[in-house]
Amino acid sequence: MNATTSPIYRWRVGEVEITRVLEFEAALFEPAVIHPEASPEIIARHRPWLQPMLMDPASGLMIFAFHSTVIKTPQATILVDTCSGNDKERPHKLRYHRKNWPYLANLAAAGVAPDDIDYVLCTHLHADHVGWNTRLSNGRWVPTFPNARYLFAREEWEHWRVAEWRAAYTTDPYYEDSLLPVMESGQAELIATDYSFDDHVWIESWRGHTPGHVCVLVGSRQASVVLSGDIMHTPLQCAEPQLNSCFCVDAEMARATRRRFLETFADSTVMIIPAHFPTPTAGWIRSHDGSFRFHFDYPAESTSERRWWYCSRMSGRGQAERGAVEVFPQSGAAPFPECGAARQW
Ligand SMILES: [Zn+2]
Repeated sequence: MNATTSPIYRWRVGEVEITRVLEFEAALFEPAVIHPEASPEIIARHRPWLQPMLMDPASGLMIFAFHSTVIKTPQATILVDTCSGNDKERPHKLRYHRKNWPYLANLAAAGVAPDDIDYVLCTHLHADHVGWNTRLSNGRWVPTFPNARYLFAREEWEHWRVAEWRAAYTTDPYYEDSLLPVMESGQAELIATDYSFDDHVWIESWRGHTPGHVCVLVGSRQASVVLSGDIMHTPLQCAEPQLNSCFCVDAEMARATRRRFLETFADSTVMIIPAHFPTPTAGWIRSHDGSFRFHFDYPAESTSERRWWYCSRMSGRGQAERGAVEVFPQSGAAPFPECGAARQW
């Protein structure tokens, strides 16, 4: 597990800054457990490119990252997904059980204090996306981000508020410790799945993994980025889009949504930041042999070296324009220069 030494990844899209803040990263799931439809043949076929970065060669386990993404616009600071949290009772999900991650220290290292967060947005309401909604204080669960509005898609809330639906996922008390306290504090707001923060940051419904799953889109005149949540848990699902995760609520819709997502963004310049892909997490979807692959955005070794990518604006939001996404392998890098050179890929 590697919770402290991973660099902070930061991208700039026009006036918007996007930062990945890690909670933890670990080899966690057997491929046939996270993807129950993955046959031994499928796993064997892809093992050569999955190892060692995406699958631990020693254990054969798929490597997962858990991180939040901070989106800083000129007007607001938005925290997307809040990982699994500390001190939570998760006897049925031991990877999240009674943890003590340095998440808030990692957030501070990224230059963000809990008070700075204006909005918390959860792409969906599974336990590993809502944990830091709250923290334990004097024996009570209190909102971690005291000044934030917590935004939940209405369809998503309406599903998970039903105990029977929750029980089909887990009987761990994540609703009670990470969702209800936020609702009771008056900080929660149920939103439609076409909600926009402003002209540059908005959400879209990409349901199937859960009934109200949303993606977060960041678009400027210069570039576009999509935070894709759990549409794909592992890059194996780019190669084999028919493979669901064991956590998908609506199997058919999850499959159809994943395929539509891959087809929509394949071979485009839109950068994708999935919720669980291991470091360096972000990248691009590329067509490959009748299916797809995920091309990771490998940062430069040197912290002083900046790199540029030309990206196009999202379709449907005005004309396609050319621009750049800037990548900072570390916090504390040099200030943002004007858009300049382009990197070929
Ligand atoms: Zn997840």
